[in-house]
Amino acid sequence: MSDNVILIRFGELYLKGKNKCYFENILKDNIRNKLNGIACKLYFGRGRYVVKEYAECDEQLIIERLKQVFGLHSLSLARRCGYELDEIASLAISVMPNVGTFRVSARRSYKKYPLDSVQLNKVLGERILEAKPELTVDLHTPDFVLNVDVREDGDVYVYDSTVKCAGGMPYGTGGNGLLLLSGGIDSPVAGYMMAKRGMSLTALHFHSYPYTSEAAKEKAVTLARILKNYCPNITMHCVSLTKIQETIHKCCKPNYMITLVRRFMMRIAQAVGEKLGCGCIINGESLAQVASQTLASITVTNAVVTVPVFRPLIGMDKEQIIEVAEQIGTFKTSIEPFEDCCTVFLPDYPLIKPTLEKVEEQESRIENYAALIEEAIENIEVTVV
Ligand code: ATP
Ligand code: MG
Repeated sequence: MSDNVILIRFGELYLKGKNKCYFENILKDNIRNKLNGIACKLYFGRGRYVVKEYAECDEQLIIERLKQVFGLHSLSLARRCGYELDEIASLAISVMPNVGTFRVSARRSYKKYPLDSVQLNKVLGERILEAKPELTVDLHTPDFVLNVDVREDGDVYVYDSTVKCAGGMPYGTGGNGLLLLSGGIDSPVAGYMMAKRGMSLTALHFHSYPYTSEAAKEKAVTLARILKNYCPNITMHCVSLTKIQETIHKCCKPNYMITLVRRFMMRIAQAVGEKLGCGCIINGESLAQVASQTLASITVTNAVVTVPVFRPLIGMDKEQIIEVAEQIGTFKTSIEPFEDCCTVFLPDYPLIKPTLEKVEEQESRIENYAALIEEAIENIEVTVV
Protein backbone atom coordinates (compact mmCIF):
# COMPACT_ATOMS: atom_id res chain seq x y z
CA MET A 1 0.00 0.00 0.00
CA SER A 2 1.36 3.38 -0.99
CA ASP A 3 1.66 6.25 1.47
CA ASN A 4 0.80 8.55 -1.38
CA VAL A 5 -2.60 10.18 -1.59
CA ILE A 6 -4.35 12.02 -4.40
CA LEU A 7 -5.83 15.38 -3.50
CA ILE A 8 -8.79 16.40 -5.63
CA ARG A 9 -10.13 19.93 -6.01
CA PHE A 10 -13.40 20.92 -7.55
CA GLY A 11 -14.13 24.20 -9.22
CA GLU A 12 -17.28 26.04 -10.12
CA LEU A 13 -19.52 24.25 -7.64
CA TYR A 14 -18.68 27.01 -5.24
CA LEU A 15 -21.00 29.25 -7.20
CA LYS A 16 -24.01 27.13 -6.58
CA GLY A 17 -25.13 28.43 -3.19
CA LYS A 18 -27.87 26.32 -1.63
CA ASN A 19 -27.83 23.85 -4.54
CA LYS A 20 -24.21 23.04 -3.92
CA CYS A 21 -25.16 19.87 -2.01
CA TYR A 22 -27.08 18.54 -4.99
CA PHE A 23 -24.15 19.12 -7.33
CA GLU A 24 -21.66 17.71 -4.86
CA ASN A 25 -23.64 14.54 -4.18
CA ILE A 26 -23.75 13.78 -7.90
CA LEU A 27 -20.04 14.59 -8.21
CA LYS A 28 -19.23 12.20 -5.36
CA ASP A 29 -21.31 9.44 -6.99
CA ASN A 30 -19.55 10.02 -10.30
CA ILE A 31 -16.15 9.74 -8.60
CA ARG A 32 -17.19 6.57 -6.77
CA ASN A 33 -18.46 5.00 -9.99
CA LYS A 34 -15.36 6.02 -11.90
CA LEU A 35 -13.08 4.37 -9.32
CA ASN A 36 -15.31 1.36 -8.94
CA GLY A 37 -13.25 -1.82 -9.09
CA ILE A 38 -10.04 -0.17 -7.87
CA ALA A 39 -9.26 -0.83 -4.22
CA CYS A 40 -8.94 2.57 -2.53
CA LYS A 41 -10.55 4.76 0.13
CA LEU A 42 -12.31 7.99 -0.72
CA TYR A 43 -12.49 10.82 1.75
CA PHE A 44 -14.88 13.65 0.97
CA GLY A 45 -13.97 16.75 2.96
CA ARG A 46 -15.20 20.31 2.71
CA GLY A 47 -13.81 21.87 -0.45
CA ARG A 48 -11.43 19.00 -1.12
CA TYR A 49 -11.54 15.26 -1.64
CA VAL A 50 -8.78 12.72 -1.07
CA VAL A 51 -8.11 9.24 -2.48
CA LYS A 52 -6.12 7.14 -0.02
CA GLU A 53 -4.95 3.60 0.62
CA TYR A 54 -4.57 2.41 -2.94
CA ALA A 55 -1.95 0.09 -4.42
CA GLU A 56 0.96 1.94 -5.97
CA CYS A 57 0.42 0.17 -9.29
CA ASP A 58 -3.10 1.69 -9.51
CA GLU A 59 -1.96 5.28 -9.01
CA GLN A 60 -1.74 6.32 -12.67
CA LEU A 61 -5.00 4.57 -13.48
CA ILE A 62 -6.78 6.46 -10.69
CA ILE A 63 -5.33 9.76 -11.94
CA GLU A 64 -6.35 9.05 -15.55
CA ARG A 65 -9.88 8.15 -14.47
CA LEU A 66 -10.27 11.22 -12.28
CA LYS A 67 -9.21 13.41 -15.19
CA GLN A 68 -12.34 12.21 -17.00
CA VAL A 69 -14.74 13.30 -14.25
CA PHE A 70 -16.44 16.60 -15.06
CA GLY A 71 -16.62 19.02 -12.17
CA LEU A 72 -13.08 18.30 -10.98
CA HIS A 73 -10.73 21.20 -11.33
CA SER A 74 -7.27 19.85 -10.50
CA LEU A 75 -5.50 17.15 -8.56
CA SER A 76 -2.17 16.68 -6.85
CA LEU A 77 -0.23 13.61 -6.00
CA ALA A 78 0.88 14.07 -2.40
CA ARG A 79 2.96 12.22 0.19
CA ARG A 80 1.35 11.73 3.58
CA CYS A 81 2.82 11.89 7.09
CA GLY A 82 1.70 12.68 10.67
CA TYR A 83 1.79 15.95 12.71
CA GLU A 84 5.35 15.49 14.10
CA LEU A 85 7.49 18.38 12.86
CA ASP A 86 10.53 16.11 12.36
CA GLU A 87 8.45 13.78 10.25
CA ILE A 88 7.12 16.65 8.10
CA ALA A 89 10.61 18.11 7.69
CA SER A 90 12.20 14.84 6.60
CA LEU A 91 9.38 14.19 4.13
CA ALA A 92 9.75 17.74 2.77
CA ILE A 93 13.51 17.31 2.40
CA SER A 94 13.04 14.00 0.60
CA VAL A 95 10.89 15.54 -2.13
CA MET A 96 13.00 18.67 -2.67
CA PRO A 97 15.47 18.94 -5.55
CA ASN A 98 19.12 19.54 -4.61
CA VAL A 99 19.70 22.83 -6.41
CA GLY A 100 17.66 25.86 -7.48
CA THR A 101 15.21 28.17 -5.74
CA PHE A 102 12.19 27.25 -3.65
CA ARG A 103 9.37 28.46 -1.46
CA VAL A 104 7.38 26.59 1.18
CA SER A 105 3.65 27.22 1.04
CA ALA A 106 1.91 25.81 4.11
CA ARG A 107 -1.85 25.64 4.75
CA ARG A 108 -3.33 24.74 8.05
CA SER A 109 -6.94 23.56 7.95
CA TYR A 110 -6.36 22.10 11.44
CA LYS A 111 -6.35 25.43 13.28
CA LYS A 112 -5.18 23.97 16.59
CA TYR A 113 -1.86 22.92 15.14
CA PRO A 114 0.79 24.59 17.32
CA LEU A 115 2.48 26.38 14.40
CA ASP A 116 0.56 28.65 12.06
CA SER A 117 1.23 28.63 8.34
CA VAL A 118 3.77 31.47 8.44
CA GLN A 119 5.73 29.72 11.22
CA LEU A 120 5.56 26.42 9.35
CA ASN A 121 6.91 28.06 6.19
CA LYS A 122 9.80 29.48 8.16
CA VAL A 123 10.72 26.38 10.18
CA LEU A 124 10.47 24.02 7.21
CA GLY A 125 12.40 26.43 5.00
CA GLU A 126 15.23 26.51 7.52
CA ARG A 127 15.32 22.72 7.85
CA ILE A 128 15.43 22.34 4.08
CA LEU A 129 18.26 24.86 3.75
CA GLU A 130 20.23 23.03 6.45
CA ALA A 131 19.85 19.71 4.66
CA LYS A 132 20.32 21.06 1.13
CA PRO A 133 22.63 24.08 1.23
CA GLU A 134 22.70 24.42 -2.58
CA LEU A 135 19.08 25.57 -2.50
CA THR A 136 18.06 29.20 -2.03
CA VAL A 137 14.73 30.74 -1.09
CA ASP A 138 12.80 32.82 -3.61
CA LEU A 139 9.33 33.82 -2.45
CA HIS A 140 8.20 35.34 -5.75
CA THR A 141 9.36 33.22 -8.69
CA PRO A 142 10.74 30.01 -7.21
CA ASP A 143 11.69 27.00 -9.37
CA PHE A 144 9.97 24.73 -6.89
CA VAL A 145 6.98 25.30 -4.59
CA LEU A 146 6.63 22.87 -1.73
CA ASN A 147 3.02 22.75 -0.55
CA VAL A 148 2.33 21.51 2.95
CA ASP A 149 -1.24 20.89 3.96
CA VAL A 150 -2.00 20.20 7.65
CA ARG A 151 -5.36 18.42 7.75
CA GLU A 152 -7.79 17.98 10.63
CA ASP A 153 -7.63 14.18 10.66
CA GLY A 154 -3.98 13.86 11.83
CA ASP A 155 -2.59 13.81 8.29
CA VAL A 156 -0.15 16.21 6.68
CA TYR A 157 0.15 16.22 2.90
CA VAL A 158 3.27 17.38 1.07
CA TYR A 159 3.18 17.95 -2.69
CA ASP A 160 4.71 20.07 -5.41
CA SER A 161 2.67 20.11 -8.59
CA THR A 162 -0.98 20.10 -9.62
CA VAL A 163 -2.49 18.49 -12.69
CA LYS A 164 -5.39 20.12 -14.49
CA CYS A 165 -8.60 18.09 -14.65
CA ALA A 166 -11.54 18.35 -17.07
CA GLY A 167 -13.37 21.16 -15.23
CA GLY A 168 -17.04 21.85 -16.02
CA MET A 169 -20.06 20.70 -14.03
CA PRO A 170 -20.76 17.19 -12.70
CA TYR A 171 -22.13 14.91 -15.40
CA GLY A 172 -25.85 14.40 -14.90
CA THR A 173 -26.64 17.78 -13.37
CA GLY A 174 -27.51 19.58 -16.61
CA GLY A 175 -30.53 17.73 -18.03
CA ASN A 176 -30.62 15.19 -20.88
CA GLY A 177 -29.65 15.92 -24.47
CA LEU A 178 -29.89 13.92 -27.67
CA LEU A 179 -26.56 14.06 -29.50
CA LEU A 180 -26.63 13.67 -33.27
CA LEU A 181 -23.52 11.56 -33.56
CA SER A 182 -22.07 11.05 -37.02
CA GLY A 183 -18.76 9.34 -37.63
CA GLY A 184 -17.04 12.70 -38.12
CA ILE A 185 -14.74 14.86 -36.06
CA ASP A 186 -17.22 17.46 -34.88
CA SER A 187 -20.15 15.71 -33.29
CA PRO A 188 -18.20 13.78 -30.60
CA VAL A 189 -16.58 17.08 -29.60
CA ALA A 190 -20.01 18.76 -29.47
CA GLY A 191 -21.25 15.98 -27.20
CA TYR A 192 -18.18 16.25 -24.99
CA MET A 193 -18.68 19.99 -24.57
CA MET A 194 -22.30 19.68 -23.51
CA ALA A 195 -21.48 16.74 -21.20
CA LYS A 196 -18.77 18.92 -19.68
CA ARG A 197 -21.49 21.37 -18.67
CA GLY A 198 -23.24 18.50 -16.88
CA MET A 199 -25.61 17.35 -19.62
CA SER A 200 -26.37 13.65 -19.77
CA LEU A 201 -26.13 12.30 -23.35
CA THR A 202 -28.03 9.88 -25.52
CA ALA A 203 -26.54 9.39 -28.99
CA LEU A 204 -28.55 9.14 -32.20
CA HIS A 205 -26.85 7.96 -35.37
CA PHE A 206 -28.31 7.92 -38.86
CA HIS A 207 -27.09 5.47 -41.48
CA SER A 208 -28.08 4.59 -45.03
CA TYR A 209 -27.31 0.93 -45.12
CA PRO A 210 -26.55 -0.57 -47.70
CA TYR A 211 -25.36 2.69 -49.28
CA THR A 212 -23.26 3.22 -46.17
CA SER A 213 -21.36 0.26 -44.74
CA GLU A 214 -21.67 -1.63 -41.49
CA ALA A 215 -18.16 -0.33 -40.72
CA ALA A 216 -19.42 3.28 -40.90
CA LYS A 217 -21.98 2.50 -38.20
CA GLU A 218 -19.37 0.66 -36.12
CA LYS A 219 -17.21 3.77 -36.29
CA ALA A 220 -19.99 5.88 -34.74
CA VAL A 221 -20.45 3.21 -32.04
CA THR A 222 -16.71 3.35 -31.32
CA LEU A 223 -16.99 7.12 -30.91
CA ALA A 224 -19.87 6.68 -28.47
CA ARG A 225 -17.73 4.17 -26.59
CA ILE A 226 -14.95 6.75 -26.25
CA LEU A 227 -17.50 9.32 -25.03
CA LYS A 228 -18.58 6.76 -22.44
CA ASN A 229 -15.34 7.51 -20.59
CA TYR A 230 -16.89 10.88 -19.77
CA CYS A 231 -20.59 10.02 -20.08
CA PRO A 232 -21.00 6.70 -18.28
CA ASN A 233 -24.67 6.20 -19.09
CA ILE A 234 -24.52 7.07 -22.81
CA THR A 235 -26.68 4.86 -25.05
CA MET A 236 -26.64 4.68 -28.82
CA HIS A 237 -29.69 4.63 -31.07
CA CYS A 238 -29.36 4.02 -34.80
CA VAL A 239 -31.95 4.99 -37.40
CA SER A 240 -31.95 4.09 -41.08
CA LEU A 241 -32.47 7.00 -43.48
CA THR A 242 -32.24 4.82 -46.58
CA LYS A 243 -35.90 4.90 -47.58
CA ILE A 244 -36.20 8.61 -46.82
CA GLN A 245 -33.16 9.43 -48.93
CA GLU A 246 -34.37 7.24 -51.79
CA THR A 247 -37.72 8.99 -51.68
CA ILE A 248 -36.18 12.48 -51.66
CA HIS A 249 -33.90 11.42 -54.52
CA LYS A 250 -36.92 10.25 -56.51
CA CYS A 251 -39.27 13.16 -55.79
CA CYS A 252 -37.20 16.32 -55.27
CA LYS A 253 -34.60 18.44 -57.03
CA PRO A 254 -31.07 17.04 -56.47
CA ASN A 255 -29.65 20.21 -54.95
CA TYR A 256 -32.26 20.08 -52.14
CA MET A 257 -31.06 16.65 -51.01
CA ILE A 258 -28.92 17.69 -48.05
CA THR A 259 -31.31 20.35 -46.79
CA LEU A 260 -34.25 17.96 -46.91
CA VAL A 261 -32.32 15.10 -45.31
CA ARG A 262 -31.33 17.40 -42.49
CA ARG A 263 -34.93 18.42 -41.91
CA PHE A 264 -35.87 14.75 -41.65
CA MET A 265 -33.00 14.14 -39.25
CA MET A 266 -34.21 16.95 -37.04
CA ARG A 267 -37.83 15.78 -37.03
CA ILE A 268 -36.76 12.24 -36.17
CA ALA A 269 -34.41 13.56 -33.50
CA GLN A 270 -37.16 15.57 -31.86
CA ALA A 271 -39.55 12.59 -31.84
CA VAL A 272 -36.90 10.17 -30.52
CA GLY A 273 -35.74 12.73 -27.97
CA GLU A 274 -39.26 13.18 -26.65
CA LYS A 275 -39.62 9.42 -26.18
CA LEU A 276 -36.28 9.15 -24.40
CA GLY A 277 -36.75 12.17 -22.15
CA CYS A 278 -34.20 14.40 -23.85
CA GLY A 279 -35.01 18.10 -23.62
CA CYS A 280 -32.76 19.26 -26.45
CA ILE A 281 -30.88 18.24 -29.56
CA ILE A 282 -27.10 18.67 -29.82
CA ASN A 283 -25.20 18.72 -33.09
CA GLY A 284 -21.68 19.50 -34.29
CA GLU A 285 -22.50 22.32 -36.66
CA SER A 286 -19.99 25.14 -37.05
CA LEU A 287 -21.00 28.27 -38.92
CA ALA A 288 -20.06 28.17 -42.63
CA GLN A 289 -18.14 24.89 -42.33
CA VAL A 290 -20.14 23.43 -45.24
CA ALA A 291 -23.17 24.48 -47.31
CA SER A 292 -25.62 22.99 -44.82
CA GLN A 293 -24.17 25.16 -42.05
CA THR A 294 -24.84 28.65 -43.37
CA LEU A 295 -27.29 30.82 -41.47
CA ALA A 296 -29.91 30.26 -44.18
CA SER A 297 -29.44 26.47 -44.10
CA ILE A 298 -29.51 26.29 -40.31
CA THR A 299 -32.68 28.42 -40.31
CA VAL A 300 -34.58 26.03 -42.58
CA THR A 301 -33.43 22.89 -40.77
CA ASN A 302 -34.13 24.40 -37.38
CA ALA A 303 -37.63 25.39 -38.49
CA VAL A 304 -39.00 21.84 -38.17
CA VAL A 305 -38.30 21.47 -34.44
CA THR A 306 -39.50 23.19 -31.30
CA VAL A 307 -36.97 21.90 -28.76
CA PRO A 308 -33.74 23.87 -28.24
CA VAL A 309 -30.90 22.83 -30.54
CA PHE A 310 -27.47 23.30 -29.00
CA ARG A 311 -24.51 23.79 -31.32
CA PRO A 312 -21.54 24.19 -28.98
CA LEU A 313 -19.08 24.34 -31.91
CA ILE A 314 -20.85 27.08 -33.83
CA GLY A 315 -18.09 29.65 -33.38
CA MET A 316 -15.11 27.31 -33.45
CA ASP A 317 -12.58 26.81 -36.25
CA LYS A 318 -11.82 23.30 -37.43
CA GLU A 319 -8.32 23.45 -35.90
CA GLN A 320 -9.77 24.23 -32.49
CA ILE A 321 -12.26 21.40 -32.83
CA ILE A 322 -9.48 18.99 -33.82
CA GLU A 323 -7.46 20.04 -30.81
CA VAL A 324 -10.31 19.02 -28.49
CA ALA A 325 -10.93 15.82 -30.49
CA GLU A 326 -7.29 14.84 -29.98
CA GLN A 327 -7.40 15.67 -26.33
CA ILE A 328 -10.54 13.59 -25.66
CA GLY A 329 -9.33 10.67 -27.76
CA THR A 330 -11.89 10.66 -30.60
CA PHE A 331 -9.78 12.13 -33.41
CA LYS A 332 -8.06 8.94 -34.61
CA THR A 333 -11.36 7.12 -34.93
CA SER A 334 -13.09 10.11 -36.56
CA ILE A 335 -10.59 10.27 -39.40
CA GLU A 336 -11.03 6.63 -40.40
CA PRO A 337 -12.30 6.77 -43.97
CA PHE A 338 -15.90 5.60 -43.82
CA GLU A 339 -18.69 7.41 -45.61
CA ASP A 340 -21.52 9.18 -43.78
CA CYS A 341 -25.16 8.99 -44.80
CA CYS A 342 -24.98 12.67 -45.78
CA THR A 343 -22.74 11.68 -48.69
CA VAL A 344 -25.38 9.42 -50.23
CA PHE A 345 -26.95 10.97 -53.36
CA LEU A 346 -24.71 13.97 -52.81
CA PRO A 347 -25.57 16.73 -55.29
CA ASP A 348 -22.86 18.51 -57.31
CA TYR A 349 -24.04 21.90 -56.03
CA PRO A 350 -25.76 21.83 -52.65
CA LEU A 351 -27.85 24.87 -51.70
CA ILE A 352 -26.04 27.53 -49.75
CA LYS A 353 -29.00 29.85 -49.30
CA PRO A 354 -32.17 27.79 -49.20
CA THR A 355 -35.44 29.61 -48.48
CA LEU A 356 -38.12 28.10 -46.32
CA GLU A 357 -40.74 28.60 -49.00
CA LYS A 358 -38.86 26.70 -51.70
CA VAL A 359 -37.74 23.97 -49.32
CA GLU A 360 -41.32 23.42 -48.20
CA GLU A 361 -42.44 23.32 -51.81
CA GLN A 362 -39.89 20.58 -52.54
CA GLU A 363 -40.87 18.70 -49.41
CA SER A 364 -44.55 18.82 -50.37
CA ARG A 365 -43.67 16.53 -53.29
CA ILE A 366 -43.13 13.74 -50.76
CA GLU A 367 -46.64 12.53 -50.09
CA ASN A 368 -46.06 10.12 -47.26
CA TYR A 369 -43.39 11.87 -45.28
CA ALA A 370 -45.04 11.44 -41.86
CA ALA A 371 -45.29 7.70 -42.51
CA LEU A 372 -41.64 7.58 -43.57
CA ILE A 373 -40.62 9.19 -40.29
CA GLU A 374 -42.79 6.84 -38.29
CA GLU A 375 -41.34 3.82 -40.06
CA ALA A 376 -37.77 5.01 -39.47
CA ILE A 377 -38.49 5.48 -35.76
CA GLU A 378 -40.25 2.14 -35.44
CA ASN A 379 -37.14 0.41 -36.75
CA ILE A 380 -34.73 2.21 -34.45
CA GLU A 381 -31.97 -0.02 -33.13
CA VAL A 382 -30.48 0.36 -29.69
CA THR A 383 -26.81 -0.58 -29.80
CA VAL A 384 -24.74 -1.63 -26.82
CA VAL A 385 -21.95 0.86 -26.30
P1 ATP B 1 -18.92 15.85 -37.93
O1 ATP B 1 -19.59 17.20 -38.00
O2 ATP B 1 -19.36 15.03 -36.78
O3 ATP B 1 -17.44 15.93 -38.09
P2 ATP B 1 -19.52 15.78 -40.53
O4 ATP B 1 -18.68 16.98 -40.59
O5 ATP B 1 -19.39 14.67 -41.51
O6 ATP B 1 -19.38 15.11 -39.18
P3 ATP B 1 -21.59 17.53 -40.96
O7 ATP B 1 -22.03 17.42 -42.35
O8 ATP B 1 -20.69 18.63 -40.53
O9 ATP B 1 -21.00 16.18 -40.50
O10 ATP B 1 -22.89 17.47 -40.08
C1 ATP B 1 -23.22 18.41 -39.11
C2 ATP B 1 -23.80 17.73 -37.91
O11 ATP B 1 -24.97 16.98 -38.25
C3 ATP B 1 -22.86 16.71 -37.30
O12 ATP B 1 -21.93 17.32 -36.45
C4 ATP B 1 -23.82 15.83 -36.55
O13 ATP B 1 -24.22 16.40 -35.33
C5 ATP B 1 -25.02 15.79 -37.48
N1 ATP B 1 -24.90 14.61 -38.36
C6 ATP B 1 -24.38 14.53 -39.60
N2 ATP B 1 -24.44 13.27 -40.05
C7 ATP B 1 -25.00 12.52 -39.08
C8 ATP B 1 -25.31 11.14 -38.93
N3 ATP B 1 -25.04 10.27 -39.86
N4 ATP B 1 -25.90 10.74 -37.79
C9 ATP B 1 -26.16 11.62 -36.80
N5 ATP B 1 -25.89 12.91 -36.89
C10 ATP B 1 -25.31 13.38 -38.00
MG1 MG C 1 -18.97 18.91 -39.43
